[in-house]
Amino acid sequence: MTDRHWSDDDLLDRLYGIGPGDGHLEQCPECQSRWNRLSTRRSELLRPPEVSSSDLAAQRRNIYRRLDRPARSAAVRFAPILAVFAMLLVAFFLWRPGSAPQAPPPAPQISDAQLFSEVSSMAQSSEPQAAEPIHALFESN
Ligand SMILES: [Zn+2]
Repeated sequence: MTDRHWSDDDLLDRLYGIGPGDGHLEQCPECQSRWNRLSTRRSELLRPPEVSSSDLAAQRRNIYRRLDRPARSAAVRFAPILAVFAMLLVAFFLWRPGSAPQAPPPAPQISDAQLFSEVSSMAQSSEPQAAEPIHALFESN
């Protein structure tokens, strides 16, 4: 007999069939009582739960009742979600700023003769139009 009592890990190893084989358990009454408590508790936990036949019958009736009931179609099930999504989509397109088509800016009212005279004056000028502000800086006599 060894002088060391078995630890909880030793008892668990014995429970799964890999415990120490030093024979301490058969000779030590303290470890023997711990082993008996552990093995009794394990057998209690491994016992299958008791289920009455009336519970099983009620469960079976519920299953058959659900099988007989027609299933709701996916369209009916998701209709509220689709309705909310459609409303959000419509609200997004109505609310979005700048999404409304804008009228093009009105064309300047100018006659054909006036347009022709402006174009011909631009073509006859030797200086580019961008030089006009520079001429304004100097006094011409
Ligand atoms: Zn012991």
